Amino acid sequence: MQIANDKAVSVHYTLTNAAGEVLDSSAEGDALVYLHGQGSIIAGLEQALTGKVTGDKFKVTIAPKDGYGELMEDMIQVVDKSMFEGIDDLELGMQFHADVSQGPGIVTIVAINGDEITLDGNHPLAGETLNFDVEVVDVREASAEELAHGHVHGAGGHHH
Ligand code: ZN
Repeated sequence: MQIANDKAVSVHYTLTNAAGEVLDSSAEGDALVYLHGQGSIIAGLEQALTGKVTGDKFKVTIAPKDGYGELMEDMIQVVDKSMFEGIDDLELGMQFHADVSQGPGIVTIVAINGDEITLDGNHPLAGETLNFDVEVVDVREASAEELAHGHVHGAGGHHH
């Protein structure tokens, strides 16, 4: 069966950056299971998987615009320490859920200068060219319930 919209797809993958460093891999654990065509994985990878079948192995290089986006200056902002009322020990690298210009997201403290705290709302992989090494493990029809929920159930998916 070919990968197309509304298929439940299982893949193993290794993600490396432009320098060849491994950023993420499913090799030691469960395959990634997702519902194709729902934008639940990055656009470049979803496009590359379309039409593939079980057993296919391929490599794909994905530009930031089809990955986690370009680094955006306006996602970096300086706020006053008083924004973090109740948190005494702010440290570099701490992450918070916040409403950023693109909607809800994660912001990371990237600088602390007295009472001025610099927050970066870019995805940690924004601006990175991504190299995926992919193996398609399984392709099946998604159930009506999975389609209604917008995610895959069972092994590697949602349990509820
Ligand atoms: Zn569900």
